[in-house]
Amino acid sequence: MSDNIIKDPEVILCDMCAEEERKPARKTCMKCEISMCVQHLQAHLTTPVLLQTHPLTEPMALCGTTKCPQHGKLLEYYCLDDMTCVCVSCAIEDQHRLHNMKTFSTAHTELMEKLKTEQKALLGKTDDENVSLEKWEKSEREKLGQCSVSLIEAVTKLRDLSLTSVQSSVSTRMVAIKTSKKSMQAAQDETDTFRFLQMYSQVHQDVEKAKAVDLRKGLEPGSDRDKLVQEIRQSENTPKY
Ligand SMILES: [Zn+2]
Ligand SMILES: [Zn+2]
Ligand SMILES: [Zn+2]
Ligand SMILES: [Zn+2]
Repeated sequence: MSDNIIKDPEVILCDMCAEEERKPARKTCMKCEISMCVQHLQAHLTTPVLLQTHPLTEPMALCGTTKCPQHGKLLEYYCLDDMTCVCVSCAIEDQHRLHNMKTFSTAHTELMEKLKTEQKALLGKTDDENVSLEKWEKSEREKLGQCSVSLIEAVTKLRDLSLTSVQSSVSTRMVAIKTSKKSMQAAQDETDTFRFLQMYSQVHQDVEKAKAVDLRKGLEPGSDRDKLVQEIRQSENTPKY
């Protein structure tokens, strides 16, 4: 074998190293739009003006994601109203002018806090509703279990039918909550500010979907199921001749 060096396309290489010996990049400068190895990163880490005005991120492939598609300028701010990264022109003179704007790092911190709060609230919601679903099922089984032997077969069928239908619709709704939990976790595990902000709007959508879920729907009294149970109870009490 003449070439046993495996080139991993996932590894971001330093843009400043000589072409034939490019080292893996340690950071990417969003302003210069280059990735740099430890050695070539020094200027960015030691020059005060570069430190202040050149945001560094974890090494990433830059394919136009850091420039504003409208103004061609560096994306520097995060618009909380639109949940999108914007450039300085967007921020001061265009459609985001009156919007709530933050620097990337402030937005990252604030949204992370928000996610944690929402995660807690959602966790409480599922715990609470899991318990009430179990309770509901138990009391329902008890109620139905009291029906007479002559009707036991019909009741069993009805019971299984109604429980299965409610359970399956509840578990469908649980999926939305599970999805949001997963994406919230992924966002919280993302250490890179820019990538976090890019994924946030999807996370937000997932959370909103989960928040809109009403797990109790279908479990409330007065549904057709209850009427059916009533009818069975009544026919059970009707004297037989
Ligand atoms: Zn280098
Ligand atoms: Zn730079
Ligand atoms: Zn712009
Ligand atoms: Zn905006």
